[in-house]
Amino acid sequence: MNVYLDHNATTPIRPEAAEAVVRAMQMGGNPSAVHESGRAARRVVEEAREAVAALVGADPAGVIFTSGGTEANALALKGLRRPRILASAIEHSSILKQTYVEHVPVDTTGVVDLLALDEMLKTRGEPALVALMLANNETGVIQPVFAAAELAHNHGAVLHCDAVQAAGRLEIDIRGLRATALTLSAHKIGGPAGVGALVLADPAEPLDPQLLGGAQEMRRRAGTENLAGIAGFGAAARVVKAVLAEEAKRLDELRQKLEGYIATRMADAVIFGEDAKRLPNTICVAVPGHEARTLVMALDLAGIAISAGAACSSGRIAPSHVLGAMGAGQMAASAIRISLGWNTTEADIDMFMSAFGRTVARLGFKPASAA
Ligand code: PLP
Repeated sequence: MNVYLDHNATTPIRPEAAEAVVRAMQMGGNPSAVHESGRAARRVVEEAREAVAALVGADPAGVIFTSGGTEANALALKGLRRPRILASAIEHSSILKQTYVEHVPVDTTGVVDLLALDEMLKTRGEPALVALMLANNETGVIQPVFAAAELAHNHGAVLHCDAVQAAGRLEIDIRGLRATALTLSAHKIGGPAGVGALVLADPAEPLDPQLLGGAQEMRRRAGTENLAGIAGFGAAARVVKAVLAEEAKRLDELRQKLEGYIATRMADAVIFGEDAKRLPNTICVAVPGHEARTLVMALDLAGIAISAGAACSSGRIAPSHVLGAMGAGQMAASAIRISLGWNTTEADIDMFMSAFGRTVARLGFKPASAA
């Protein structure tokens, strides 16, 4: 039995993307070369650029391919020429660790505090950049990006939106959000890891490149393009755009089934961000008295992959800054994240529920219905 419910960490590659990767690898070619092989590679890159742009309602000329979400976030924060950075306290570490950032608090449901943001923007006249993600990777809580962007613009600031987890799960329109720049990562939408994009709403937006060298990516990101990665990213973006509405509805139904099970069988379980709008695929839940680490390991032995909180990198589980910012206190140590994706089936959810119930009961918790 193998059930993969850790799609927010990475989602399995979609068949169309895998095929595009293989095709591009076999094809080869340097998109900067002027001969036929180079021109063919250039066509692959430009078709992918169009598909990625279409996923977020952008002009293809505003898409800058990078090595992933982390690099795109770094490019935005360092390249958009704003000396002051205000970031929500629940941003991904690739935002919070880039440079000095002032943290904008969130409420207990995990939604950014817009009044606090407004106050912070009022305090100093220095040109500012507001970094606010569209949806959080740990809780799935959706952020009021449009409202935050309006506030930012009222104070002469710009807004950068990390849409890595929202892409493929929510409809995104960069101009509708009023974001100046937006980050995407291929491996969260069914493309390969190691490729992403920074998308600019205005292709002419001044941006200082962070990698210097060749003139690739319209002089905004040097380095020979990752042809296979970009081809896979484009293919994934094309599929995601076509299936998004249907897939989101299906995952939302599965998530509701799972949340219904938790509510009836584990009366004291807490779902983080339950009262906020959330992604259709993410549940972050704590069962009091059960350490996340133990649950993750026990479920792994049962053939089920989930994660603890999310602050898991290099195999290490660190306390979650997201749940900390939400005031979760001790409960954060019990938080597990179950994230669904394009190939999750109802049978997967049934197997998870039965293994979860058995594991929690075996480790000492009495389900409400058995009391
Ligand atoms: N932003 C968010 C919200 C993420 O969840 C992640 C990855 O987990 C990243 C950025 C980083 O993306 P990448 O893995 O492509 O560097």
